[in-house]
Amino acid sequence: MTTYAPTDTIDLTPRLRLLRFPVGQACLWRDGGELTLIDAGAAGAGQPIADVVRDWGYAPEDVRRIVLTHFHEDHAGGAGEFARLSGAEVCAHRLDAPFVRGVEQGPGPVHEDGERLLHAQALARLPPVPACPVLPDAVRELADGDVLDFGGGARVVGVPGHTDGSIALELPEHGVLFTGDAVAASPVDGQVILGVFNLDRAQAVASFHRLAALDSDVACFGHGDPVAGGAAKALRAAAARYPLG
Ligand SMILES: [Zn+2]
Ligand SMILES: [Zn+2]
Repeated sequence: MTTYAPTDTIDLTPRLRLLRFPVGQACLWRDGGELTLIDAGAAGAGQPIADVVRDWGYAPEDVRRIVLTHFHEDHAGGAGEFARLSGAEVCAHRLDAPFVRGVEQGPGPVHEDGERLLHAQALARLPPVPACPVLPDAVRELADGDVLDFGGGARVVGVPGHTDGSIALELPEHGVLFTGDAVAASPVDGQVILGVFNLDRAQAVASFHRLAALDSDVACFGHGDPVAGGAAKALRAAAARYPLG
């Protein structure tokens, strides 16, 4: 079976381990004896994620939930496989849940200038195997404002635009923010930027501003280097370059 492994992992805080895949990234968060996985890589990532979990001193069964920031293959493709081998609950916003389940094909992005080639290049770096869909009854549907039982209370922040059901997760107690693809860091210079390949750019810009208003210290993006301190300031400076329509 094809596996899709992270190229490296980075411990951002004692509780937070970042898994960098060839395309995009996932995060593991720990609360004592239990873990939460935020995004799950592409198809074939399940077993390699289990290896990272073991390397951190845990068993795959210690991962209680997989929270998907949106349905795209580079974030959700490995969720079914990892859910099967860990027993973790899979959580996704209700608008993206049908695509996570694999019962419907999600809509493709509306490309901005120059994005079509970038998108094709990114897709070419994903493994050529179909995602193992999450079992239909195994998806817990989320809504804006829900609070999940990890990280001292993880708040679901609806950030539509990249996809209709895109979410961010805010851990106010720890000053940590997971943005999914609503925000990214440029692969060229690390600058904080609006995520690319959006379904609705105006909506994505509004969501970016919503995240920039939060008091985050550490921010993890779907793609690109995280901000390990002073994230709110970096996001606000970046948001100023994307005026609201
Ligand atoms: Zn995406
Ligand atoms: Zn992505």
